[in-house]
This record gives sequence, structure tokens and C-alpha cells, in this order.
Amino acid sequence: MTGHEFLHRTCPLCGSSQAHEEVHSRHRTETLGFEALRPFWSGLKEKPFFSYHRCDSCGMLFCPVYFRDAQIADLYEEMAPNMDIVDNDAIVATQRGYFARAAQSASLAGGYLEIGPDAGHIVSEAARHGGFDHFWLFEPNRAVHDALRIATAGKPAMLLPDMQNLSAVPDGTVGLAVMIHVLDHVLDPLAMLKQVRAKLRPDGTLMIVTHNEKSLLRRVMGVRWPPFCLQHPEVYNPDTMAMLLQRAAFAGIEIERSLNYFPIDFLALNVAWALGIKAKAMPLPAKSIGLRLGNILTLARVPAQATQRPVATHETAA
Ligand SMILES: [Zn+2]
Repeated sequence: MTGHEFLHRTCPLCGSSQAHEEVHSRHRTETLGFEALRPFWSGLKEKPFFSYHRCDSCGMLFCPVYFRDAQIADLYEEMAPNMDIVDNDAIVATQRGYFARAAQSASLAGGYLEIGPDAGHIVSEAARHGGFDHFWLFEPNRAVHDALRIATAGKPAMLLPDMQNLSAVPDGTVGLAVMIHVLDHVLDPLAMLKQVRAKLRPDGTLMIVTHNEKSLLRRVMGVRWPPFCLQHPEVYNPDTMAMLLQRAAFAGIEIERSLNYFPIDFLALNVAWALGIKAKAMPLPAKSIGLRLGNILTLARVPAQATQRPVATHETAA
């Protein structure tokens, strides 16, 4: 038994230690040693993951056994820094769509804060179309920092490599905060959301995109659903996302299926994979189509008159 090498944790949403296993890979990661696991971190052949359990109290789907912080740092260090900025049309279109959605209801003034902006497609939309006075970008991959500077188009900006520490940002100054596929990588999402909330000004908006473990895609793909992986210590659904944000004292929570653009050949490969067909490439054009498939976009706000009062549950949308 090698599980003692790993972190043992309670539910990241409500703190309960009562949960039942719901999804596991053929080789449960928690039964393998850390060293035996190393080749699978970025490997493609077989995908073992830590088993996901459903919390009996709140319904959160999370890994009660997961890597320790030092193990995660060790694994990321081993990965070659990602130098290629994937600039395909599908990614650009998807990220532009996210910004357009935020712009419909968020005030585009004050500070702009993004955790994990990657190549900065949303940053450049925000610099071009928003009235932001400062950009705070938390991105551990230093290889993309130059691209991020370019994306801010000369606006005042600070680039920081530590996503866990937002202390450089003055409290109550941020108009729009953005986290795209970040929250499901975080060991303590509640602590991170509380930090972000403190940085938002009254009426400020947080936009989050995550996978949805209650999506049709997850039901169809079952254990092969790609977000069940070593990189995700928990996965969300609209209910658990809303509850988590309420615990972090956010209000005006809106959750909807997000529009994502996918290259057609990529989709075909995934369908083949779900059906158990081993295919390396598909003889299809790499054209993109937009689908509401497997992801949720969440908007949450700090009330204009910020109070400590918990938020009424009827404000959540599934
Ligand atoms: Zn729970």
C-alpha cells in the first residue's frame, strides 16, 4: 500500500470526510507509488487517475487522495515548458466568445485580473475592447510572458508566476477577474475564490470556465471522459459550482453551458476514442464548429453594496 505518499483530504467544498467512490481508472493512481506514476503525468498511452468520490453532504466530485503540492511542483518541473502558442482558429474563437459573454454584463473598468491566461487571447480582447486601467496576469509558464505583454497592448500590466498568491493586487480594485480551466486544477478552490473576491471591487465580476461532470459528454464517454485525469483534483457541475461561489460570498451567480469551437477532425478522434476505436488521425478537414459541449461558463459578482450576508440559493441557475 503506497497511498501514504499522497495527500489525503476532505471535501474541498464543505469539508466533509464522508464520500463514495464514483469513478476510477483501471489502475487506481492512489494504489500506485509516486515514482511508478511519473511516466503517466504527460503520457498518452494509458491514463490512470486518482479515483473520484462524491461527497455525501454536498455532492462535490473530488479525489480524496491526491498529489501533495511538492509532488505537483516536481511533475510540472519535469515537463518541458510549453513554447508553442497554439494559435488555432478554434481556440481564438472560443476565447473571444468568452470575453464577449463577460462584456454583456460585466463592467469593463478598473483592474483586469486573470489566473492562467496562457497565450492571452482574452487579455488582448480586454485590452482592445475594455476600459481597464491595469492588467494583473498570474501565469506560471514564463515562456508565454512575452506574448502576454504584447496582448496587453501597452496598458499598465504586471505579470506574476505564482497563481496561489494574489497579494500584489490591491483589494477592491478589480472590475473583471477571469479563470479559464483553472479552478479544477486547484487543491483548495474555496481559498482561491476568497482571494479573488477580495480583489474585486463592488459590482466586480468573476468569470469561470470549467468542465461539467454532469454534462451529456461525460455521460456518453463515462470513465473515458478526458477531464478525469491526474491534473484535476476535483471536477464541477452547475450545483457544486454555485455552492462553492456562495461559500466564497459571491452573489448574482449565473451558470450556462459555454460555446466551444472544436476542429472537426479533433471531434472525430474523440468520438472514435469514446467508442474504443484506436485512431491516430482522421482524414477530415481541420475546420471548426461551435458546440455547447461539456463545459460550463459561470459569472459571479460582488454585490454593489458588499455585505457578509450569505447569498440566497434561488439566485443560482443550472
Ligand atoms: Zn462536500
